[in-house]
Amino acid sequence: MKKGIHPDYKTVTVTCTTCGNTFETGSVKGDIRVDTCSNCHPFYTGKQKHASAAGRVERFKKRYGMSKTQTEEEK
Ligand SMILES: [Zn+2]
Repeated sequence: MKKGIHPDYKTVTVTCTTCGNTFETGSVKGDIRVDTCSNCHPFYTGKQKHASAAGRVERFKKRYGMSKTQTEEEK
């Protein structure tokens, strides 16, 4: 390899901010923080998180003045 033109490839620690899992990988940047990893992502765990999705819908309804009773009346 030609000297002086290649970035410094080193072992860095990747930290998952959701489950706190850490693992090592190679990178030219420093330590990495990720939002989800293979330890907590639903695709790998087989579990689905419906709670957070429902919370967003409720927040949306609240913001635009759509209460739960109104929605049920529309049906
Ligand atoms: Zn994770």
